[in-house]
This record gives sequence, structure tokens and C-alpha cells, in this order.
Amino acid sequence: MSSKKSAAPVPLSEHLRLPLGAVDLADLDPSATPGYPGKGKSDAPEWIAALAPELSDLQEMLFAAGRSVPERAPRALVVLQGMDTSGKGGVIRHAIGLVDPQGVDLTSFKAPSAEERRHHYLWRIRNALPGAGKIGIFDRSHYEDVLVVRVDSLVPEDVWSKRYDEINEFEAELVAGGTRLVKCMLNVSFEEQKARLAERLANPTKYWKYNPGDVDARKKWPAYMEAYAAALEKCNTEAAPWYVIPSDRKWYRNWAVAELLRETLAGMGLAWPAAEFDVAAEQKRLAES
Ligand code: AMP
Ligand code: MG
Repeated sequence: MSSKKSAAPVPLSEHLRLPLGAVDLADLDPSATPGYPGKGKSDAPEWIAALAPELSDLQEMLFAAGRSVPERAPRALVVLQGMDTSGKGGVIRHAIGLVDPQGVDLTSFKAPSAEERRHHYLWRIRNALPGAGKIGIFDRSHYEDVLVVRVDSLVPEDVWSKRYDEINEFEAELVAGGTRLVKCMLNVSFEEQKARLAERLANPTKYWKYNPGDVDARKKWPAYMEAYAAALEKCNTEAAPWYVIPSDRKWYRNWAVAELLRETLAGMGLAWPAAEFDVAAEQKRLAES
């Protein structure tokens, strides 16, 4: 596995891992670029592209491992959360896009359908978990059930307040079953969100991305930050830690999620499965065929 650019000396996870304990989002700078090994925006495309060969090998190894032991197969699950315009779609295109789409199970969670509302909120999440050897990507997730649901009082407080513990149990169960979780909060600033929404309104090819509801959510920014701080603080566990990705600079955000995924897969102890057949005998049979 050779890549033109070598990995950062300090693992990126150590820069981005949210420390345990009280969370104040005001302490986390959305325009920072911790652990970035290059110069900046100008060389980011090269640094992102340099991750592709190793990511590709690791994804293939994960998939191979999933085929050989499907009942206790390793899986990865990247959870993407962030305010509108924070770049969940951009990360999927530019970071996750580096791996073979056949190895990826992508789910975007919208407001629950009538059928989903008839079930427990984790029902649709369980249904969308990655298959054996797959990399699952959640564009929004079960965290919406303690974010928009809390901010808009979609269920009473005594209901949403119990969900943090339930989410921790759910995630611990996933991890115990062989799933490696990468929970990413894309941290965009209030000012940068305004600029990105303004860009959408200034460009007819971006109108489709603009949703008038985004401004309604923006008006509740402090309530969202409070809800995010609670979710980050209460669900920051050893088994399933939160990473906060500074997201005002798109090039940094995309590189960071790709590198975090690479680091995570590289840390899973994956190996190519041994042949379940006699290689020499097969070579002989093939030669004679
Ligand atoms: P988007 O990701 O921009 O397509 O928007 C999806 C919308 O679905 C956002 O407004 C979310 O707040 C909303 N949404 C996602 N999950 C839930 C949920 N569990 N309950 C209510 N709304 C949700
Ligand atoms: Mg949106």
C-alpha cells in the first residue's frame, strides 16, 4: 500500500476526538485545520487523492473479511451529522466517493414516513445498518431524534431525554457485534452557513439545494447548538466516540473525513483471507484446462 503522501505523525483521530466531559461548542473553531499535513486549499486535492489507493485496498479487505465470516463480519459505520450546509453531501461525494460504491451502504434519513412513525425511532436505523463487510454511511441518523425532535418538541421531554442512554446502549451493541463507528459532527459556523445559503440563492443551478425550511432551522440556531452539545456530551463514549470536524473550510472537512475513515479501517486489523482451496492444485488444474 503505497501512497505518494505519508500519513500525519499524530493520528488525526487524536486531533478531532471530542474530549470526554462537558461540551461547549463555542470552544471548537469551525475554521481550524488540525492535523492537516499540507499547505492548505491549494494542495488539498492532492492530499485527498493520495488517500484513494489505501482506502480502496482497505475497503476491499473489509469486504473480503465480510464474505469469509458473515456471522461475525466486520463493518464500519460513518455517521454524518451537522446543520444545513455543513457539507454532509460534499463529504459523501468527495471523501466517501474515493471508495468503490459497491462496498458502501448509504442511507439519508429524512423526516420519518408514516410507516416509520408507527415504529420505535431506532427501527429504521436498524434496517439501514451496513451489511457484512460494508461501509455504512448515515447522512443524518438516530441523532435527529435528539436534535430536531428536541428543538421542535416533536415528542415530550420525558421521551427524548431517555434517548441518550438508549442510543449509547444501541451503539455499544453495534460495536460489540463488530461494527466500527465513526461519528462525525460537521461543525459549520453561523456566519459560514449564511454565506453558503446566500450562494445557493444567488445561483439558479443551486436553487434545488435551497430549502426555505433551512432558514427556519437557522433562526433556532442557539437551540440547535444546545441540542448538539447535549448529544455530543451524553453520547461521547469509549465504544463510540464523537469526532468534531471543523467544516468552514470544505477542503479540510473532506480531507479530514477521508483520513479518519482510512485511519479507522487501518486500525481494524484487517487481513486478506487465506484461500479455502488448495492453491497449487488449482494452478495445476487451470494450467491443464
Ligand atoms: P435534508 O438532509 O436537507 O434532505 O433534510 C432532511 C430533513 O429531515 C431535515 O430537516 C431533518 O431535520 C429531517 N429529519 C431527519 N430525521 C428526522 C427525525 N427523526 N424526525 C424529524 N425530522 C427529521
Ligand atoms: Mg437540507
